[in-house]
Amino acid sequence: MNPAEMSVQYVKGVGEKKAQILRKLGIETVYDLVHYFPRSYLDLTNQVRICDIVPETVCCFRATVGYECTSSRVNSAMILYKTTVFDETGTVHITIFNNKYLADSLKTGEEYLFYGKVSYQYGSFQMNTPTVEKIESGSTMKPVYPLTSGITSNMLSIIMKNGLKLYFESDTPDIIPGEIRHRYSLCHEHFALKSIHFPQSSHDVDLARKRLIFEELLTLQTGMKLLKDRDRGKTAHRVKNDVSKEFIASLPFTLTSAQQRVIDECISDMKKDKPMNRLVQGDVGSGKTVVAATLIYLMAKNNIQSAFMAPTEILATQHYATLSKLMEGTDVRFELLTGSVTAKKKKEIKERLKNGESHFVVGTHALLTEDTEFASLGLVITDEQHRFGVKQRGSLAFKGTSPHTLVMSATPIPRTLSLIIYGDLDLSIIDELPKGRQKISTYAVDETYHKRLYDFIKKHLDMSYQAYIVCPLVDENETTELTAATEYARELSEKEFRNYSVGILHGKMKPKEKEKIMKDFSENKVQLLVSTTVIEVGVDVPNAVIMVIENAERFGLSQLHQLRGRVGRGTAKSHCVLVCSAKGENAKARMEIMCRTNDGFKIADKDLELRGPGDFFGKRQHGLPELKIADFTENMDIVRHTKVASETIFREDPTLKLEKHKPLLQRARKLFSDKNKLSLN
Ligand code: ADP
Ligand code: MG
Repeated sequence: MNPAEMSVQYVKGVGEKKAQILRKLGIETVYDLVHYFPRSYLDLTNQVRICDIVPETVCCFRATVGYECTSSRVNSAMILYKTTVFDETGTVHITIFNNKYLADSLKTGEEYLFYGKVSYQYGSFQMNTPTVEKIESGSTMKPVYPLTSGITSNMLSIIMKNGLKLYFESDTPDIIPGEIRHRYSLCHEHFALKSIHFPQSSHDVDLARKRLIFEELLTLQTGMKLLKDRDRGKTAHRVKNDVSKEFIASLPFTLTSAQQRVIDECISDMKKDKPMNRLVQGDVGSGKTVVAATLIYLMAKNNIQSAFMAPTEILATQHYATLSKLMEGTDVRFELLTGSVTAKKKKEIKERLKNGESHFVVGTHALLTEDTEFASLGLVITDEQHRFGVKQRGSLAFKGTSPHTLVMSATPIPRTLSLIIYGDLDLSIIDELPKGRQKISTYAVDETYHKRLYDFIKKHLDMSYQAYIVCPLVDENETTELTAATEYARELSEKEFRNYSVGILHGKMKPKEKEKIMKDFSENKVQLLVSTTVIEVGVDVPNAVIMVIENAERFGLSQLHQLRGRVGRGTAKSHCVLVCSAKGENAKARMEIMCRTNDGFKIADKDLELRGPGDFFGKRQHGLPELKIADFTENMDIVRHTKVASETIFREDPTLKLEKHKPLLQRARKLFSDKNKLSLN
């Protein structure tokens, strides 16, 4: 057996009990153990004399314990241990909170290394619960691992040493092939693992990290590529008769060349006998629905059914309305299937889908994946699927039928990132808006403008238009923020806007309540909608012409752009007002970009530049496997390198059957099978 695969219990020093504790840390095998990386390091090289300590900074000094710790109980939950340590230049008072083990380990007259923040109070240096190290020769950087009770850093260090020994006995070659290691100046796996756990210098740690991050991202990209290339069976729904032109000719407008290109890309996929697996990315208003409609029409004319899935009932209803209009004058028959359809109707609809009477159905995911049967389902279109992630994408495949799948996303994502997040899909981009679109005027103002802003809104409400006010909801303190948003809404409805109907929308509401408010808003029963960011996704109320975003500096640019996209959907002039009180250069620069451009892809690129990719991954469930060491926020350059490296590998060896690529293949399979239950076999 490959030592890497062996249970961690085979490592010297790990008994049944320790194995159990390690399991809590996610460590099952020897492989897991040696890939359990330190969170940070204590730098023990830079030692200062006590007289040179700079208060309020983290430092490391060598000192002798003056006396055994005294203990005093503060309350039932807190015991303080105190001692004083000294060197030839001064003394530091040490206070240890509740850690008897640490207090007992400090022996009077012995010298230790102390590490941590020192403050200067009451006329002397004070240090609370420092990290204490025995003085040993050799170790200069001490790894700090995330621990759990029952295991200390020293225990883990011993286990790690033995684990590495075992791991190195394996004769599997380095998972990064030699020539790639060479090209990107990466160290060998063994050196990397040894140095990440037992570094000789910070330079070693840098080398090790670079290599391990590269390895992890390369594995991820390889896995995504395998996922993309995996055999999804043959589709029984090849398009034979391309009648898209007649549909396109019947439209009341000419397609943009970007729309036409994307349609062609899809049709070319659908003519093959492999199922299409494609993502269409296009900014709000770029006309994705027409693309979908063309494909649905084409399928219908080939006697193949389609399903169009939306994340919410209201979006499903909207899509249904839009598609109905586009299908006017054709003999394509279709259905709307949502939760509010009566049981009797549902049954009839399902019957018509089963016997092939209807050509396509628009509905919510739940309804369509549940138990709906089709006579010949050949195309599944999913709207806004960026909220579902890789895992769900896999499970969406309707069993047995291998339909073509098309995912539509209105979130422009910089190309480098979409290659990771959507690495398993082919990518089509609609990077052009239909001609003659009204630009949404965007202004950045500070809080002193509120009064004028309210008047501006009222003026529009009086002309029977509608408006949004969005308040941010920040994670750290959801409840307070929530109250803030609701309170603000209530205040507005009782004071400024007491003569208007104001609705409140936030994430903690039940889906039914949300849909109700949205429905009221779309019917203009609610004139002003005060909301947290939940309206971000796809709501279409053309009569809403003002979008006010409070504390705009708290949002990422892409998010602001998404929000802004809620207005400007009708023929009337629309406005977006960013209320921003932050004075920082970065905040200003970001507001300026918003005022200057309406191009979602440009904004996404800027966002990436100014805030890093966190926003694109952050709260959204991207569904990628969990990463142990790489961080998209910090490692974009390595992401790009691994992208190129992975392409090089696949060009030479498309199925990774060469001996030198075997370890990579295995690792990629493992990465995806563990957490995502997506089999790559
Ligand atoms: P989105 O990409 O945001 O889903 P839609 O498909 O809803 O965009 O299209 C937005 C609006 O633009 C719709 O009213 C649609 O009819 C219209 N539209 C789409 N394509 C064109 C075009 N090529 N020329 C003019 N109007 C278009
Ligand atoms: Mg749309």
